[in-house]
Amino acid sequence: MENIGFIGLGIMGKPMCLNLLKAGFKVTTYNRTKSKLEEVVGAGAKPADSPRQVAEQSDIIITIVSDSPDVEQIVLGKDGVIHGAKAGSVVIDMSTISPSVTQNIAARLAEKNVEMLDAPVSGGDTGAIAGTLAIMVGGKKNVFERCLPVFEAMGKTITHVGSNGRGQTVKLCNQILGSVTNMAVCEAILFAQKSGVDPDIMIEATKNGAAGSWQLANLGPKMAAHDFAPGFMIDLQQKDLRLALEAAREMHLPTPALGLVHQLFVGCQANGEGREGTQALVKSLQRLAGINE
Ligand code: NAP
Repeated sequence: MENIGFIGLGIMGKPMCLNLLKAGFKVTTYNRTKSKLEEVVGAGAKPADSPRQVAEQSDIIITIVSDSPDVEQIVLGKDGVIHGAKAGSVVIDMSTISPSVTQNIAARLAEKNVEMLDAPVSGGDTGAIAGTLAIMVGGKKNVFERCLPVFEAMGKTITHVGSNGRGQTVKLCNQILGSVTNMAVCEAILFAQKSGVDPDIMIEATKNGAAGSWQLANLGPKMAAHDFAPGFMIDLQQKDLRLALEAAREMHLPTPALGLVHQLFVGCQANGEGREGTQALVKSLQRLAGINE
């Protein structure tokens, strides 16, 4: 079994790391905030003082931090992974970041004969805990195959989608699909309410038909019940939509629906709802309609 390095014990990273330990992998780990190490060290992981130290002791180094500059800092910065990684080792970045930044990091690592896979995930904290994440992987096929047992400890639907950066591209497609569908659900809920139809009845009647979706079945009832507690926070969603809009701009690809839903979420953020769940998008549309509930 290969030795694993794990960097970033946040909402997603901690349960993913625990699942690797459960599967029998030896894990060396680093987290910027030391208190978050406790649980994984208690479960058998070995703590390290820097990403560099993690890399020195590992064959496969996983990172799952926040945004593109954070991955750049962890991998390429002072005391970063690149300074400790052995030739032939693999860096797997499971954060959601920019496809072009990913490609640059992969090129820098390749100069040191270190492989890279981008492997962003979908499935939220519940999928991370259950080990059922969808993992979209970009990079060389043979490196993907080498790392498959590691992915299988954390996820269920594991797909090699192409070369470096393509995993991030597919993850951003996932975010376009989810957020634009969310906007349609908000409109249908308000349309039902304003017409005098109970939104829960509308959801029951439509969710298994051709217009059904995960967003309708899961976010719709929360909108109807005014339950805005986060599963996935608006602020994080906005980071992903910004990445998708930037990538679309680089390609000169118009994405009008994506632009609109991003702007409606800006309205939520301006009203202090950035830490609420993405179903709070409905509040942005309620404000436009003058609905005060
Ligand atoms: P989170 O709970 O905020 O955790 C972020 C982790 O990254 C923490 O361990 C944090 O360290 C570390 N970090 C961030 N910037 C850093 C830096 N510059 N240097 C060192 N460490 C840094 O976030 P999360 O929800 O786990 O999300 C992680 C990634 O997964 C994001 O890219 C997110 O978009 C993606 N994702 C999240 C979900 C979800 O439902 N939450 C679903 C799919 C994908 P500290 O502990 O020191 O802050």
